[in-house]
Amino acid sequence: MSTIDEFRKEVRAWLEANCPPAMRTPTPDGALIFGGRKLSFQSDDQRLWFERMRDKGWFAPDWPAEYGGGGLSAEQTAVLEAEMRRLHCRPAQINLGIWMLGPVILEFGTEEQKQALLKPMTRGEIRWCQGFSEPNAGSDLASLKTSAVDQGDHFLVNGTKIWTSYGDKSDWMYALVRTDPAAPKHQGISLIVLDMQSPGITVTPIDLISGKSSFCQVFFDNVNVPKGQLIGPLHGGWTLAKALLQHERRAMSKFGEFSLPTHFDLMSLAERYLPPVGAATSAATSAAAPADIALRARAVAMSMEEHSYTLTVQRMGEEMRARQNVSGLMSIMKLVHSEQEKDKFEILLDLMGHRALGWEGDEFTEQELALSKAWLGSFAQTIAGGSSEVQLNVIAKRVLELPEGKQSK
Ligand SMILES: Cc1cc2nc3c(=O)[nH]c(=O)nc-3n(C[C@H](O)[C@H](O)[C@H](O)COP(=O)(O)OP(=O)(O)OC[C@H]3O[C@@H](n4cnc5c(N)ncnc54)[C@H](O)[C@@H]3O)c2cc1C
Repeated sequence: MSTIDEFRKEVRAWLEANCPPAMRTPTPDGALIFGGRKLSFQSDDQRLWFERMRDKGWFAPDWPAEYGGGGLSAEQTAVLEAEMRRLHCRPAQINLGIWMLGPVILEFGTEEQKQALLKPMTRGEIRWCQGFSEPNAGSDLASLKTSAVDQGDHFLVNGTKIWTSYGDKSDWMYALVRTDPAAPKHQGISLIVLDMQSPGITVTPIDLISGKSSFCQVFFDNVNVPKGQLIGPLHGGWTLAKALLQHERRAMSKFGEFSLPTHFDLMSLAERYLPPVGAATSAATSAAAPADIALRARAVAMSMEEHSYTLTVQRMGEEMRARQNVSGLMSIMKLVHSEQEKDKFEILLDLMGHRALGWEGDEFTEQELALSKAWLGSFAQTIAGGSSEVQLNVIAKRVLELPEGKQSK
């Protein structure tokens, strides 16, 4: 038996022994664990699963063990992910720090920063939020204006960030700030990290159409940020931002692997909401039958696309390990996945008919209410992490190497 086969056997046995059966089911709405100072659990099984994965170092399986990671090779990490998928294990922790900032610190941070920042992520002790977008800097992120003025041993930060997911629940933020207002816009930006409890920070939640409010606007009023919290070179933050966005898009392109409430099995819902195949059609239903057949065909086609996508993600995971610049690839995957999810919800809504119209109350099942809201949320994923149009621009430039269009005045 090869070493990797032995490793697979070990991982499978460990997961079977340590992932409680209740943690091998789709995660209900509101039951994801994000870690952080305000961490709480909804059940003993959830706590156990979190603690066991944490102690194994498997929140960040491929990070070096000295920073709290699992020390696994890329190949071993792929095996772990595959085995978790096979058993339908819930994610034990969702942490933007591990998904996005951690890999950037591993590449660009000082040894002191690695020691101070990475371990708390891998132990689920600090919840991170992302302070990139501003009211006039979303797709055109480099237009950001939040300023960080050099005061000798610290920066004084002023300005505002918007669309900060879970800004009100997070402990620390990684933020892009303007440190040189005189430089060309991409060259005067730096990446800093800051404690959300710092004096001068105000966080205001923003309501969303889906009824949930994960968004916040964050205001900085003379916030003191020690110089040691600058990541990478001063004014060199754009390079780090691009690297970080690659990690974000990679994470988003894998959302389908988690058992989030928004990720449902289309075919099993088709079975529930459509009349059984071959059922005798009465005069009353015969007119609807062709529509049902067409709907079922759309659902089957979407399920096949979804399966192809999952296989492609796995293949690309292998390929990516051998490549350095993957930003074009990540844009393709993020674009395809978020648009596919949106289309999948549209089919689901057609399947559910009036059952998709619920917002609250006991006339609808909990799942129906959750799915109607998640449908609205599916639009957001085509904007978060860079809109679909922006991904198309990146693909045109970095994958297809098309010439840039002339700017119209
Ligand atoms: C669910 C969700 C979570 C988010 N979480 C965070 C977060 O935690 N932290 C954070 O910093 N930000 C976050 N964002 C913000 C997100 O990064 C921005 O919304 C996104 O980059 C788009 O920016 P914008 O909203 O300012 O839209 P705009 O940039 O104003 O774009 C408006 C429209 O114009 C189109 N457009 C813009 N420029 C071009 C172009 N060059 N070519 C073609 N079309 C173009 C866009 O595609 C879009 O349709 C989140 C957004 C969502 C939806």
